Amino acid sequence: MDYQKLTPELIEQLKAIAPGRVFTNGDINEDYTHDEMPIYGKASPEAVVEALTTEEIAAVMKLCNEHHIPVTPRGAGTGLVGGCVPVEGGVLLVTTRMNKILEYDLENFVVRVQPGVLLNTLAEDAQKQGLLYPPDPGEKFATLGGNVSTNAGGMRAVKYGCTRDYVRAMTVVLPTGEIVKFGSTVSKTSSGYSLLNLMIGSEGTLGIITELTLKLIPMPKANVSLIIPFPDLESAIGTVPKIFMAGLKPQALEFMGKEIVISSEAYVGKQVFPREIDGVEAEAYLLVTFDGDNEEELEAISEQASEVVFDNGAIDVLVADTPALKRDAWAARSSFLEAIMADTKLLDECDVVVPVNQIAPFLVYVKSLEDEIGLTVKSFGHAGDGNLHIYCCSNELEEAEFISLAEQFMEKVYIKATELGGQVSGEHGIGRGKVSFLKDSIGETSMALMENIKRVFDPNMILNPGKVCYKL
Ligand SMILES: Cc1cc2nc3c(=O)[nH]c(=O)nc-3n(C[C@H](O)[C@H](O)[C@H](O)COP(=O)(O)OP(=O)(O)OC[C@H]3O[C@@H](n4cnc5c(N)ncnc54)[C@H](O)[C@@H]3O)c2cc1C
Repeated sequence: MDYQKLTPELIEQLKAIAPGRVFTNGDINEDYTHDEMPIYGKASPEAVVEALTTEEIAAVMKLCNEHHIPVTPRGAGTGLVGGCVPVEGGVLLVTTRMNKILEYDLENFVVRVQPGVLLNTLAEDAQKQGLLYPPDPGEKFATLGGNVSTNAGGMRAVKYGCTRDYVRAMTVVLPTGEIVKFGSTVSKTSSGYSLLNLMIGSEGTLGIITELTLKLIPMPKANVSLIIPFPDLESAIGTVPKIFMAGLKPQALEFMGKEIVISSEAYVGKQVFPREIDGVEAEAYLLVTFDGDNEEELEAISEQASEVVFDNGAIDVLVADTPALKRDAWAARSSFLEAIMADTKLLDECDVVVPVNQIAPFLVYVKSLEDEIGLTVKSFGHAGDGNLHIYCCSNELEEAEFISLAEQFMEKVYIKATELGGQVSGEHGIGRGKVSFLKDSIGETSMALMENIKRVFDPNMILNPGKVCYKL
């Protein structure tokens, strides 16, 4: 692609569009060169524009489209696939200053927000009104624009669905600079191709989201968490379908191996998960949360769930019904990634998703690669929806050797996942890091359809080059 460089004249024009919010050269913060997975490569933009309005973004896009300058949208930069890294330079368009909650419409259960509002800010604000914004990805300081652009998932997806299920409408600036609205406040629609859904999960390759209308639900009145130790991973995972078959509807259902629990508890400085019960060592755990209308209902659910898990090999059930215990249990779970990062010099990650009944054979296969490839493997994940986070790590290897071994590891992992009916990413997206794996998984025809859709939205291919379906 014949991308052009930003000239001093073009930089002056950007400064006229966003006065005081255009940064170049030494004024560019190093954070803007990467996301949370720098292993996929860092890159510096030629200019950073911190936008405030839809109109500013439209003006930037018009200018860049006319001059073939690449533009990369960026939220909080917490992505895990290199999606917001400006690999071709050009403009990095940052939305974090567009951070206003604009309006609640309580009769229609929706809220209008700017894309730079943080997930945590909306969650806390909605709670004050007795409302829940159900998507709950682990990183609470990501932007809602980033969440929608990656179709972020998280712990509550098993009951409530992913970010996609909570987006009613959005304002988008197309790569050509045109401003469009997709969707509306209505709760059902059958009105042609869903451009709204095409935008969700498009990782900043089709347009820039500048406003969102998101669905809310009434806040469930009570919840309880169960910490359930098992003597081995197979019985823990094997119990998952039994929970659903008993008619139980957990809000969250996570599995975790002993090693990762121990390192995460050391990281947060508190032990909540029991290690040994009546002489039997816990090798794996399920952490389950149920929500409901009152304590009596939750007591009945907890009893029923306990019967199911004991019938399937659990060695204990710890009921976390106080706020402190619940907080500590989920703090350990939420810190898995940080705990792994703190312990590890080099790591690569994937978030494959496999059918729920294939989790156990898949994990056994992945663990077998530890010896075959020679990297330490750590896994945890959303047992309720088959979305697994698998890390290969090394503290000894040089970076080049690690990258080559990690590539071999990931290739095998994705081939196996595809064989078992799975997909490359359950929630993090494809970004830069997973482009070649996507092609192998979905095949040439689907990839060509995606590339052609990209060309319709972005004839000059200037928006977020090198991501998702467009390999440079
Ligand atoms: C500790 C930790 C835990 C995490 N846990 C989870 C989890 O449980 N579930 C999960 O799904 N993810 C998780 N993530 C990944 C990450 O938080 C999500 O991918 C999040 O959605 C990224 O949002 P962001 O604002 O940081 O976006 P960025 O990283 O800045 O960008 C992500 C992508 O979105 C595009 N983009 C951003 N804003 C816009 C916009 N306004 N318009 C168009 N495109 C845009 C970018 O170009 C890029 O392709 C975790 C990350 C960390 C570090």
